[in-house]
Amino acid sequence: MIRSEKTICAPATAQGGAIALIRISGKDSLAICEKIFFPLDKSIELINQKGFTVVFGEVRSDNEIIDEVLLTVFRSPHSYTGETSAEISCHASQYIIRKILELLILHGAVTANPGEFTQRAFFNGKMDLSQAEAVADIIASRTSASHKIALNQMRGDFSAEISRLRSELLYFTSLIELELDFGEEDVEFADRDKLKSIILGVKNLSDRLASSFKVGNALKNGIPVAIAGKPNSGKSTLLNALLMEEKAIVSDIPGTTRDSIEDTIVIDGIEFRFIDTAGLRETTDVIEVMGIKKTHEKIRQASVILLVDEISDSAESINKRIDAMRKITTDPDKRLIILINKSDTISDIHSTGLEKMLDLNETDSLLFISAREKSGLDDLRRVLSDISTKGKMNSDDIIITNIRHYESLFRVSESLGRVISGLENQIPEDLIAIDIRQAIYYLGEITGEITTDEILGNIFKNFCIGK
Ligand code: GDP
Repeated sequence: MIRSEKTICAPATAQGGAIALIRISGKDSLAICEKIFFPLDKSIELINQKGFTVVFGEVRSDNEIIDEVLLTVFRSPHSYTGETSAEISCHASQYIIRKILELLILHGAVTANPGEFTQRAFFNGKMDLSQAEAVADIIASRTSASHKIALNQMRGDFSAEISRLRSELLYFTSLIELELDFGEEDVEFADRDKLKSIILGVKNLSDRLASSFKVGNALKNGIPVAIAGKPNSGKSTLLNALLMEEKAIVSDIPGTTRDSIEDTIVIDGIEFRFIDTAGLRETTDVIEVMGIKKTHEKIRQASVILLVDEISDSAESINKRIDAMRKITTDPDKRLIILINKSDTISDIHSTGLEKMLDLNETDSLLFISAREKSGLDDLRRVLSDISTKGKMNSDDIIITNIRHYESLFRVSESLGRVISGLENQIPEDLIAIDIRQAIYYLGEITGEITTDEILGNIFKNFCIGK
């Protein structure tokens, strides 16, 4: 990848709000700013300012004042990108922002590509690749759980773990390669059991990290939930009730719109995403019969299935539907919540005796609700929260959320598996060394020590401009 030497600029804040921030980075940052920015205190020379100084002044185009701004100076290497940089805080008018960018470009800066600031930070060793990826995740995080994972990753917890694994493997290679140097003489410097236990330790850690992806992915992208049941059981009423209550919560947060959180609810910091509910809310006449292909697919994609039945249904018919569910999916991790809806229509829900007559598994839940009266919804939320993966992890555990990391770790484990069987079967050291080097290579892919233009391109193209 060709690294640009140019000084780049871009707005770093989204539209809306009172203040906007424009970022400039590259060796000519201050020289360019000096042409358009005039400190109020005329004795101040921008070019001579120390890092982390904030200067108040005007941005001018010829003699026209564009805005009064604050300019923060960053000196290489103590900046986000590692380069000399500046940040201009101006008033958030579209005109002002555009004008300031035009002026910067006129004096030699170029517009930054998406993610270019972070890419430069990576190239300049301010962060490794997994930390750079976490920057994008943290911006995209919508819930406390996904925020926490991204934050830990950005701060380098995951990177530290990976470099620990790497140094263990490097130590191991040094032992093996020493023996290779003395190859002819048939010496063994390290005993095989010790070597094996090192590799086993690294493989276990790598396996554990890889397996955290399942949880991590659910926390980052939300836990998929399907709503199923026969027509008119109240599925759309239930969905509406859940989403309406959610809307009441989120509409208090300025700037959030229903659009961006369509069909999701957040419980205890974890997002639940209703799968493919389009049409469900208007459908009293659309035939959503169980057994149709679309429903099957939905159920297979979901981690949690809400099966909506009516209190007037016979235990036999409910059991049939439960049975049908289990036939569609055999995944033991899938959780089934049976909702007996319309419980407002009878005075004593226990009189039905349904609890005792349903074929429930240990992990299934049964709740009596009324979607229309919005009763039992808190219980439903509690059950969802309990079965979410949150309880199963320690908040300090390192959790991976990125499929790229998962794939690399998977390969690390594979290579190490070959090393272990090699050690057990007295395979020659030079062959073992090949697999070790491969494992080290895959670890390097995660942190970016080993990388290709394609990997970098894919990562940074998903960033926003200005980040
Ligand atoms: P869907 O076909 O499963 O989406 O069912 P709907 O949500 O469209 O509901 C079908 C009918 O049942 C509508 O007339 C709803 O008003 C009614 N309904 C839904 N939930 C309840 C409830 O909790 N109690 C009562 N009494 N009626 C309900």
